[in-house]
Amino acid sequence: MTFANLGLCAPLLATLEQLDFPAPYPIQIAAIPAILAGKDVLGIAQTGSGKTASFALPILQQFQQKPPAKNRHITALIVVPTRELAVQVGNVFKQLSVRLERPVKSLAVFGGVSINTQMIHLQNVEILIATPGRLLDLLDKNAMHLSEVDIFVLDEADKMLNLGFQVEMNRILAALPVKRQNLLFSATLGKEIRTVTEITLHNPIKIEIQAPTDNIDLIKQIAYMVTEDRKGPLLRYLIKEQNLKQVLVFTSSIHRADNVVNKLKINGITALALHSQKSQGARTDALRYFKTGEITVLVATDLASRGLDIPFLPLVINYELPRSPKDYVHRIGRTGRAGASGEAIAFLTEEEEPHFYVIQKKMQKRVEIIDSQFFELKGY
Ligand code: AMP
Repeated sequence: MTFANLGLCAPLLATLEQLDFPAPYPIQIAAIPAILAGKDVLGIAQTGSGKTASFALPILQQFQQKPPAKNRHITALIVVPTRELAVQVGNVFKQLSVRLERPVKSLAVFGGVSINTQMIHLQNVEILIATPGRLLDLLDKNAMHLSEVDIFVLDEADKMLNLGFQVEMNRILAALPVKRQNLLFSATLGKEIRTVTEITLHNPIKIEIQAPTDNIDLIKQIAYMVTEDRKGPLLRYLIKEQNLKQVLVFTSSIHRADNVVNKLKINGITALALHSQKSQGARTDALRYFKTGEITVLVATDLASRGLDIPFLPLVINYELPRSPKDYVHRIGRTGRAGASGEAIAFLTEEEEPHFYVIQKKMQKRVEIIDSQFFELKGY
């Protein structure tokens, strides 16, 4: 199967070739023709499956036949739960738009940054990617209109509900025209999501893609028994001894994340923290520096475990275990993505060990546990 078989136009095919997307992923094979045919789609898929391109490509192609929209009238609206995801999805639209014969302006808007700048940039935007709160703020300020939206995407709908965006979602839905195409993506299909899909979708084509949980076999997992006071030295030992270049470290608290970063820096390892107490600018920068290799370590709280897309991330370290086994899977799912192999290391104190057995049982996978007490960590 090739992208050309899916009915995509030549400029998009050329861009995909340049991006080195050799062939469509399963979700793209299923979703692209359905979206091009104007159907509603329910996609059960996680980040990493290629879902962003599965809706961005056909949306951009549909624009090739559309007359230009009235100024400040959005025609394609993509609602996402977090700022990070808004930036990520926005970048995909921009990347894929470069060669289009009929140019399409897209913009990602999210809270935590100046609304005035975003209002200025909304000029001539046809595709808007937005978090719910900022979208409503912009609507309230009459900065743009949703009355012409003919395609609506709800991305990571389950997370949207988990974050308590139900009221905002209802307001957004009420502002949209009744006749429109709807695409809804969610990692899970629980009872609440089913209610949302019933309200939003009409005769949807259902596409279900294996969750990373099923791809966990691709990830090489290992755990080290270590006392609390030796976790820092062990981290630095692994990074220095193995000359690691890109490591995503998870901690459970903001305070610990900052602490780990400080200790790494003191020891000459470049690192930044990513958590909810950082400003939006700092979060975007940290992610960018990490992706481009300007820093070696990104230390994150669970804020980063869902949705983040860092291609070919080789290693994830759980400095502390998350409470929920699901979060553990999400954290290690940042590596071994979309078919690539990856490695995940967990640091376990004696207190954390029993919980790690629970996690292993839940993911139905045994992980080798190595005792690090004889590692010579002096000087690290
Ligand atoms: P997503 O699930 O949208 O976050 O995509 C996961 C990753 O897969 C991103 O880094 C995409 O750039 C990449 N990707 C998406 N589709 C393809 C494809 N057909 N071939 C290769 N890489 C892809």
